[in-house]
Amino acid sequence: MTAPYDSPASPTTATEPVGDTADSWIVRCGQSARKCILEWYSRYRRILPWRDVDDPYLVVVSEIMLQQTGVERVVPKFQEFVRLFPSFESLANAATADVIRAWSGLGYNRRAINLQRLARVVVTEHGGRLPLAVMDLKKLPGVGDYTAAAIACFCHGADVAAIDVNVRRVIRRLAFAGRDVPVSEVDRLARALVPPGRSRDWNQALMDLGSGHCALHRPTCLLCPARNDCSFADAPATPDANYAKTPRRVAEPKESFYGSTRYYRGRIVEYLRQLPPGVGVGLDDLGPSVKSDWIESDGAWLAGIVAGLVRDGLVTRAGDLISLP
Ligand code: SF4
Repeated sequence: MTAPYDSPASPTTATEPVGDTADSWIVRCGQSARKCILEWYSRYRRILPWRDVDDPYLVVVSEIMLQQTGVERVVPKFQEFVRLFPSFESLANAATADVIRAWSGLGYNRRAINLQRLARVVVTEHGGRLPLAVMDLKKLPGVGDYTAAAIACFCHGADVAAIDVNVRRVIRRLAFAGRDVPVSEVDRLARALVPPGRSRDWNQALMDLGSGHCALHRPTCLLCPARNDCSFADAPATPDANYAKTPRRVAEPKESFYGSTRYYRGRIVEYLRQLPPGVGVGLDDLGPSVKSDWIESDGAWLAGIVAGLVRDGLVTRAGDLISLP
């Protein structure tokens, strides 16, 4: 049974147990919401190069790239990356410097290192095949809860919920009217909503919904397939808990990024990418190349950043000479 779109959202009170609200919503609206969202997805889903492919490697590469980079930036880089390294074997056997170069433009370069380490583990410890179980996937380098669930679902069809920040926002709005309920409650409901046998479509549908109609700012509820079942749709002008917190969350990292250690790590790796293969640079030359107001006393600071990059496997240091590995 669905609630009429023009009726007020179900009233909730501060004393109403969160679990009761979620359970009540799923009984009233869960089935209808799933049906509408899946039908919408079958007609309007995004066509992406890693969807509808029967190659776990492509799924893994896309999921690692998407961890901290938007879809639009990932698509061309993904296509270039899998052209250079078309399989776990080719990636495992590649020179790490080439993998780091191919990662240029995606940011968060440690993901390139983790992805190659993952490929090497798959090749050497799993005979070139991805583990099936989520708990085994989580043991792979660079794979956390979300990525493990996404890989298990998209590669193996496991009936698990792939829950990221966008999916949580959609579920929070659908069932909790955007209230700031505990993440564990949102995740519990997300897991309960997964339709057996349709998890692949369902997880991808929620991702498309979360980046489209149910985007963080100004959700387009009038066009949303779930509007009749959504407890937030009747009051979209009211900022939800996610929305209200977002301006602070977004502004702080941007203001502090310039001049941060992460900023200079990125500049150092980018500078080394531009050098011909096998060529390195001394610390004294590297400093002025990555820091416009470089002074000699910055040497210890730079050496510390380089040491961190060495620990992460992103650069090598032989004496005073710094280069890609
Ligand atoms: Fe609900 Fe609106 Fe988000 Fe659709 S877009 S799920 S109606 S809040």
